[in-house]
Amino acid sequence: MGKKNEKEKPFEIRWKTDLPYKYAIGKLSVKFFDTLKKERKLLGSKCPKCGKMHFPPRGVCAECVVRMTADDMVEVPPTGTLVGFTVVNYPFVDPQTGGMRPFPYGYGLFQLDGADTYTMHFINEKDHNKMKIGQRVKAVFKDEMEGTLGDIPYFEIIREE
Ligand SMILES: [Zn+2]
Repeated sequence: MGKKNEKEKPFEIRWKTDLPYKYAIGKLSVKFFDTLKKERKLLGSKCPKCGKMHFPPRGVCAECVVRMTADDMVEVPPTGTLVGFTVVNYPFVDPQTGGMRPFPYGYGLFQLDGADTYTMHFINEKDHNKMKIGQRVKAVFKDEMEGTLGDIPYFEIIREE
């Protein structure tokens, strides 16, 4: 009986594959992450033709298709407004850690002060009843900056007393 089960069991080999890779992120992204790490500041790109402020920075203006360079990058404050949100109740592998991200967690759409575009990121609230469109938010920086998106683990809602 035991022998029969052994026979039916498929032969398996399991291992984890390490798959390191590198890619060019462009001059604007290099300046963005360098400034984030060294000065703890956020940079957007301001179109030299129409003045539209893009955050996160873009290489080409979405409005008038003018190419922007690292010289067109200007500081934007880490504060902004919540313009959309959701609460994620589904597990998935966090690309920052490689492990399963604990859930539920909040995910928001923000417009930083002075920016004309939106950005998305984690938010430190997982109760959708405590989030409202128009709430003020602030980017939270890690103590030890590394020059990666992980330097901003989440945005927090600024609660008015
Ligand atoms: Zn433009």
